[in-house]
Amino acid sequence: MELYKDNQLKIYNSLSKSKELFTPVTEGRVGMYVCGPTVYSNVHLGNVRTFMSFDVVFRYLLHLGYKVRYVRNITDAGHLENDADEGEDRISKRARLEEIEPMEVVQRYTVDFHETLAEYNFLPPSIEPTATGHIVEQIEMIHEIMDKGLAYEVNGSVYFDVLKYSKSAHYGILSGRKMEDAIHNSRALDGQSDKKNPQDFALWKKADERHIMRWPSPWSEGFPGWHLECSVMSTKYLGDQFDIHGGGMDLKFPHHECEIAQSHTCSGKTPVNYWMHANMLLLNSQKMAKSTGNFVLPKEIITGDNSVLSKAFAPSVVRFFNMQAHYRSILDFASDALEASEKGYYKLMEAVNSLDNLEAGKTSTFDVTSWKQQCYTAMNDDFNTPILIAHLFEAVKVINQIKENKASLISEDLEIFKATINAFVFDVLGLTNETKQDSSDKIDGVVELLIKLRKEARDNKDWALSDQIRDELIALGIQLKDGREGTTFSIN
Ligand SMILES: [Zn+2]
Repeated sequence: MELYKDNQLKIYNSLSKSKELFTPVTEGRVGMYVCGPTVYSNVHLGNVRTFMSFDVVFRYLLHLGYKVRYVRNITDAGHLENDADEGEDRISKRARLEEIEPMEVVQRYTVDFHETLAEYNFLPPSIEPTATGHIVEQIEMIHEIMDKGLAYEVNGSVYFDVLKYSKSAHYGILSGRKMEDAIHNSRALDGQSDKKNPQDFALWKKADERHIMRWPSPWSEGFPGWHLECSVMSTKYLGDQFDIHGGGMDLKFPHHECEIAQSHTCSGKTPVNYWMHANMLLLNSQKMAKSTGNFVLPKEIITGDNSVLSKAFAPSVVRFFNMQAHYRSILDFASDALEASEKGYYKLMEAVNSLDNLEAGKTSTFDVTSWKQQCYTAMNDDFNTPILIAHLFEAVKVINQIKENKASLISEDLEIFKATINAFVFDVLGLTNETKQDSSDKIDGVVELLIKLRKEARDNKDWALSDQIRDELIALGIQLKDGREGTTFSIN
């Protein structure tokens, strides 16, 4: 169904810093590019948040009936530390530390990335191109930029001439950086760099002896600059001018600014119509950093194998928690907030699970049509998932009222109600129905009941019954422990 025809989707465009009505280049089709991970270590929780935000964007566009081509790359040709043009490439560094081939590093962490995203129920992108698979195209783009007179070669490396570019185009158009602040690395100033100006950035770097990942080129045996691969792969698969480009806030400068400069130089066009940036993530109100120990891997949240959160959380709880904040707000990952989300998530699932048992009534006491419209209005307003979730909780209330015969819906309304809830919960938000916690809650309740009965037996000096309860629970692997505060239990 072409729902997009009835929906006025607005997207906050980082380029204009305002919400704009979304009009794709080709009616009914959307081209979307999101900067993927550099596969030199386990995927970072902050990156998972960014990718999850775009997973929901992808899902909603599909739900609206668009044919979406979603490209998310894999950076496997290690770029340099601190996104600078000097220093050691991160993949090579990790290969040296682990004493393995760089391509083994790439393979190991690509697999980890895919496994993690699958656990969190991500839809795979339409194309997932790799930087190393597009070296030929990257060399071609460097030629094009050199032909336009906007790149120069020094000692086997090629740099983009930012100052020259800025005479005819606006460098800083996305990030708002002024030329004097658009310096690409501090080491350029100490005379070690071949660059003409500190604002220039590398398109090709000559490899030193230590650098293992290298390819032949007309300029030297070396490797491409990081910014180049995204210009190459986005335009190759989506065209010179495409709809949406996304990424984390931290990529605005220099990465996305450089992408615009490169692509614009080659095609003469504005490459991207809507730039979207997801905000950062904090852990316990602080910046996440391995060095301070304030760090958790996405997989460790699921297993509970970490020291920063109170317990393990199901992937859908984490996803639900993410969606309770808007993608442009900072998200603070903290135990108490996650526990609150967990309660909300299971409340929502309980209601969703009872949908099939609801029976139609003779009248409708709730305006389903207007409620459904509000759900769409929330998502059409720059993918406002927290507002959508608030509307879903209104639905939970109605479901519970119907169960208690305090509300009713006629058959037609009930069908719309069910279909809308299912579509937004599962298709758009990408939640899965996890009931494990639910059944363990029930077991807890049953054991508590048996403890109460055992206490009554003991109070009545019915030792035979109280021992029987204890022994049969032990046989089931449930251990009772009597203490001053009462009886507690553990399940093995
Ligand atoms: Zn990129």
